[in-house]
Amino acid sequence: MPAADYKTYCRMIDHALEKKFAYPAINVTSLTTANGVLKGLAESKSDGIIQVSTGGAAFASGLTVKDMPLGAISIAEHVHRAAARYPIYVALHTDHCQAKMLDQFVVPLIEETEKRRAGGLPNLFNSHMFDGSDLSLNENLDVAVKLLERCHKNEIILEVEAGVVGGEEDGISGGGGEKLYTTPEDMLEVYRRLSGIKGARYLLAATFGNVHGVYKPGAVKLKPAILKAGQETVEKAYGKQARFGLVFHGGSGSAPEEIREAIDYGVVKMNIDTDTQYAFTRPIVDHMMKHYDGVLKIEGDVGNKAKYDPRSYMKLGEASLAERVKRAVTELGGVGTTLFGGGR
Ligand SMILES: [Zn+2]
Repeated sequence: MPAADYKTYCRMIDHALEKKFAYPAINVTSLTTANGVLKGLAESKSDGIIQVSTGGAAFASGLTVKDMPLGAISIAEHVHRAAARYPIYVALHTDHCQAKMLDQFVVPLIEETEKRRAGGLPNLFNSHMFDGSDLSLNENLDVAVKLLERCHKNEIILEVEAGVVGGEEDGISGGGGEKLYTTPEDMLEVYRRLSGIKGARYLLAATFGNVHGVYKPGAVKLKPAILKAGQETVEKAYGKQARFGLVFHGGSGSAPEEIREAIDYGVVKMNIDTDTQYAFTRPIVDHMMKHYDGVLKIEGDVGNKAKYDPRSYMKLGEASLAERVKRAVTELGGVGTTLFGGGR
């Protein structure tokens, strides 16, 4: 099916909230990794989300050009074309964008959407993330409100963050301390500000000790109960419809029971990057080690073209990434939940 449009993406989120499962949101940086995600989702009969980070987008545009919007658009255009051949819906999203990067990434992408819509073309992106976690909550929400107004006009969902995701992603370190845990007061304030824009849809990355990257067991203390407390506080103050659709950042390396609990409290999207990066690279390592005398030209020999042709190992990466996506869909409770063709 073609990539999800706004209505379909909203239905996807509502479906996940209602049936208590979550979508994997997988970071991709190339055609091959995007194809691996589509393969994994299709084989799971699950809809899902493909996302591009600032660094991933720059990479996708090529080392010479290094243009983030161009790279993100290139990937999105490919996904729109390729997704038409798969029996699932996929939504396109851009990952963390800090305030200082907005004018270089998210704003040009929204401008592109505005141009497309004016020309009668569908949106390429369903949602963008604004990560204002390095600002005070008040400043964060000042920016978020303006962005959400503009997104809403263009049928784009905005993901915001309150609190800080720990660890490191794309070379940006989240820091730590008490901001690793979003408070119920933070969530109340996010709702109060964002609900002022009538009909606008947004998702909240509330933090509950989650970190980017993967750490040895015991290093990370997830407290999904934080989400429960926040949702209950918001519901008490504003009613049931105020409950957030939540985003779980740093999903890599999480235990299935932690994922389950987070979904119980309203997580509908779980970001996975590190684990799928590893899944892609792992069989390539195998290939290189098993065929080192084919991929290298050793002592005047010519190597083996069949082994150093990038396709020979990148398709192993694609297949392995797809398997990791399938595992994610299973852990997120999403197998067979696609809305395509009527859905379950
Ligand atoms: Zn994140």
